[in-house]
Amino acid sequence: MGERSSGRRALITGITGQDGSYLAEFLLQQGYEVHGMVRRSSTESSERIAHIQEKLHLHQADLLDQGSLIELVRSAQPREIYNLAAQSFVPTSWAQPGLTGEFTGLGVTRMLEAVRLVDPGIRFYQASSSEMFGRTRETPQNEATPFHPRSPYGVAKAYGHHITVNYRESFGIFAASGILFNHESPRRGREFVTRKISEGVARIKLGLQSELRHGNLDSKRDWGYAPEYVRAMWLMLQQEKPADFVVGSGTHHTPREFAELAFAELNLDPADFLTHDPALLRPAEVDTLLADPSRAQKQLGWRAETGLAELVRIMVHADLEAQERISGRRRRGAGAR
Ligand code: NDP
Ligand code: GDP
Repeated sequence: MGERSSGRRALITGITGQDGSYLAEFLLQQGYEVHGMVRRSSTESSERIAHIQEKLHLHQADLLDQGSLIELVRSAQPREIYNLAAQSFVPTSWAQPGLTGEFTGLGVTRMLEAVRLVDPGIRFYQASSSEMFGRTRETPQNEATPFHPRSPYGVAKAYGHHITVNYRESFGIFAASGILFNHESPRRGREFVTRKISEGVARIKLGLQSELRHGNLDSKRDWGYAPEYVRAMWLMLQQEKPADFVVGSGTHHTPREFAELAFAELNLDPADFLTHDPALLRPAEVDTLLADPSRAQKQLGWRAETGLAELVRIMVHADLEAQERISGRRRRGAGAR
């Protein structure tokens, strides 16, 4: 554990997730003392932060438990809180709608209550989502586009967004909501379509898997590269006034295009391996998402840098290396027996 510094101190909920791990790296580089919330588990879930863990101050708490959140904020004494923790996978939100509402929706209120009660001067970032736009009312989507969420996840995020705005308006808390479009990386959860494809393609190349099962490949998503997106979160909390920002690339593509690029990267023909599985279709789909990030560009000076082809390349090669390492270890392990 690092020493306490008198300088800038931030608390990240969801620090073990994709964005939390990149944000922790970014804030450490900026000279922050970084605190993170982790939930109690019988096994470690700190794979993504293992390389920086000794520089972090980790605290156990849970979004379901108000007392633990108040105690967390009291003991970490942050100047900035980044509320990234959530049940973040859309299909799980139909299987566990109540839990998703608790974590992803009410969890935001509990964090805001902790801020209000312990120190209303703390600056608060809420991880809102383009899934709130759902069945989109206009294209592209900006901060004023009405919400029409299409999943319990999207509904819970819309609640989290509105309660963040409400605490800003009711209590004058510096609360900013970042409406982030999909952002991916080699640390993306394995069940999301981009990572499922990059890992699947790598495993197919190595003969570890024979097919890639998929649902609807014709939706459109505005995909960017996660390490760039966490900088936008930080920029939002450095502004004079709190506001909401749409963060995305302003371009969109289909999972089919992502898959075609990924297979081509390893000289494979997608037609040989893609298998449609109706069980992976969703009860309601978000057909098309496209960001209008003009406000973020103008006010934050932020823009997405990494295009789709580069993103696919980064993810496929990271997964290929990881799978080679894993199968090499297995082979060596089997040889030693
Ligand atoms: P991940 O799913 O990778 O990470 C979620 C984090 O939340 C994990 O650290 C998880 O901990 C933690 N968590 C979940 N439930 C609880 C709980 N009850 N108490 C404490 N911690 C909990 O998400 P991402 O990093 O991809 O996304 C970060 C945030 O941004 C999420 O809120 C997501 O919904 C939102 N978002 C993400 C987008 C994207 O494209 N990635 C787009 C728009 C919004 P554990 O490791 O223990 O599971
Ligand atoms: P989401 O935008 O947060 O739901 O991110 P996902 O990566 O989970 O899904 C993006 C799109 O890919 C959605 O339109 C899904 O329906 C589509 N998709 C197609 N096949 C799959 C699959 O096998 N897994 C996932 N997760 N999504 C899939």
